[in-house]
Amino acid sequence: MSFADLGLSEEVLRAVSDAGYTDPTPIQKGAIPNVLMGRDILGCAQTGTGKTASFTLPMIDILASGRARARMPRTLILEPTRELAAQVAENFDTYGKYNKLTKALIIGGTSMDEQSRALDKGVDVLIATPGRLLDLYNRGGMLLNDVKILVIDEADRMLDMGFIPDVEKIVSLLNKIRQTLFFSATMPPEIKRLADAFLINPREITVSRPATTSKNIEQHLIMIPHTNRRDLIGLQKAKREALRQVISQEGVKNALIFCNRKRDVDIVHKSLQKHGYNSATLHGDMSQPARMETMAKFKADEISLLVCSDVAARGLDIDDLGHVFNFDVPIHAEDYVHRIGRTGRAGKTGRSFTLASREDKKFLDAIEEITGEKIRRIEFGNDRQPKTSINRDKKRKTRPSRDKAARGPSSQSEYNSAEAENCPNQHGAGKQDKGEPVIGMGDHVPAFLKRVPKV
Ligand code: AMP
Repeated sequence: MSFADLGLSEEVLRAVSDAGYTDPTPIQKGAIPNVLMGRDILGCAQTGTGKTASFTLPMIDILASGRARARMPRTLILEPTRELAAQVAENFDTYGKYNKLTKALIIGGTSMDEQSRALDKGVDVLIATPGRLLDLYNRGGMLLNDVKILVIDEADRMLDMGFIPDVEKIVSLLNKIRQTLFFSATMPPEIKRLADAFLINPREITVSRPATTSKNIEQHLIMIPHTNRRDLIGLQKAKREALRQVISQEGVKNALIFCNRKRDVDIVHKSLQKHGYNSATLHGDMSQPARMETMAKFKADEISLLVCSDVAARGLDIDDLGHVFNFDVPIHAEDYVHRIGRTGRAGKTGRSFTLASREDKKFLDAIEEITGEKIRRIEFGNDRQPKTSINRDKKRKTRPSRDKAARGPSSQSEYNSAEAENCPNQHGAGKQDKGEPVIGMGDHVPAFLKRVPKV
């Protein structure tokens, strides 16, 4: 089945072809004809499956007839984060380039006056995060009873972020006669309840098992030896060193590095900078213009390593992202799927590396349970030959770097000394517990691992 078989207009087909897409993805095949027929959709699809185009393409065609009235948007798209909302807006620009559509983006962190002025002119598409939309609504900024199509995107994420009461409030403000398109990567009972409440006889489309990871992502787990549970500072330092080594050995071109806490986002970023890497941060406390500027630089390859929090990076759509690092094992197993899903998108391949210690066992178990996959362990920190794919990358070191920008120190000896001075010495290779995976990466033994522990 080609795009031409889905019932889309010439204008949209031309824009799709300009975007370089030849074949519709499964969610697009399932959703587009049904959206054009006016049916409700319940889409169980994760990001990276082409789900955004599965609703934007038919919406553009539906909106081609009719006109928007002042302060009465014709369609409403709810997104959990500002970044996702901005990306959906970009999608409308890309696919709607041969159509005359008006849109407004209502997200926190940007001027409410400006957003209100955009609405005054009348918009075909309103893309919003729930909190900011309600703020503006409560100030009398708009009427929502002309909304003919409602899209609720990433519903499970809305649930995680505590937005469901806002979403329910917004839905209660809409006309009951409307078309609703509801997407979620997973369908926990609470999400199913909402879908039942919001949708009428929906067409259900599931394009992959909930919480599956893309087959295009090669996942790795690096176990960091950690014999002293109380020495968190030592553990973090060892993780930073491991991170730098993998970045170096992998010849990383660009990567997202996820931390669980904002504080660690800053620490990891500063450490990478100190060691000569081209890094920046992305987290929820940054203003929207600052986030957008950072994203634009990352997409333009001006920044190679982006250290980020889950919320800020949710749904980021970066062409050709080679690597994802989990500096911390995510506490919510589903975040793991979302994090690594930033790479290996749209048929491309990607690699992920998760840094973990023995204390992360219960989170790792939960991740492996929901994904149904065992993550490949890499040995790190002793002089055994590694047995895994990272071995391949030793060969790469002899080749010129794919992108020097991402790389810090150019020689391995610089890595050996990195942070060794300050590193506590609980990580002595001889101190590893039995049963703890032995850690080894190439034949390099970081200096701090060789030091004799002080008693
Ligand atoms: P999404 O799941 O909406 O986040 O989309 C993931 C990525 O797939 C985006 O980079 C889209 O530009 C891309 N994409 C969407 N549809 C197609 C298609 N039919 N063929 C190739 N790439 C696509």
